[in-house]
Amino acid sequence: MYIDSHCHLTHEQYTSEADVGEVINHAVNAGVEKMYCTGGMLGHDEKVLELCAKHPQFLRPVIGISPHDANRVTAEQKNELFDLIEKNRKQLAGIGEIGLDFHYFKTSEEQKTQEKLFREEIELAKTLDLPIVIHSRKAEAKVLDVLEEVKFSRFAMHCFMVKELCQRVVKQGGIVSLPTIKSKDKKYIMKQIETENLICETDSPYLWTSRNEPANVKAVYEEISKIKEISLEKIEGKISENVEKFFNK
Ligand SMILES: [Zn+2]
Repeated sequence: MYIDSHCHLTHEQYTSEADVGEVINHAVNAGVEKMYCTGGMLGHDEKVLELCAKHPQFLRPVIGISPHDANRVTAEQKNELFDLIEKNRKQLAGIGEIGLDFHYFKTSEEQKTQEKLFREEIELAKTLDLPIVIHSRKAEAKVLDVLEEVKFSRFAMHCFMVKELCQRVVKQGGIVSLPTIKSKDKKYIMKQIETENLICETDSPYLWTSRNEPANVKAVYEEISKIKEISLEKIEGKISENVEKFFNK
């Protein structure tokens, strides 16, 4: 079984329920039988829970407040979302995507607000015994510093392609999630990191020449198989094992 460890199936690019249904069908027909579905923006967490409840055989929810929303989420919205996470603990596969994004948010004020929220979300994950899925851009070292400081090791670095830090992710107990986009650094990471520390994702609908779909995750598995010169079957088995061990769901 192939697994897409990160996709956004409530995104508006999937225009209707029927459309999402078809996207899930494409995936299942391509052998992608499990998809970890993330909201990624305010207002999508409930939708993710609903969608995953409709397709419990194939979808698993991962919800949380993204660093992109850290500076506009109200205290009330945050409390509501934390309650939603607690209330749905049993259904949830993880908290995400959370983290730091210093690419879009450059002032120290904005970055501090992100860090405060990130730390609160890590605490929640600790309390509820859930793994976290990290979004990080131009802030990867800082993210790893925070995780080291609070001693949290159950994390996946989503769409991670910073080759200088890939060994540090593994050292801290984390797992690297590789996307569908072509990149030299991604190839380097595929070579450097043992299969047992890798998972694959599409980040659908993003990161593809047209609208991305979970069915495309197979391309990442194929790339790993080619680069590591290990059969696709073995890679498929090992990575499914990694994902299921990580999320435990
Ligand atoms: Zn994402």
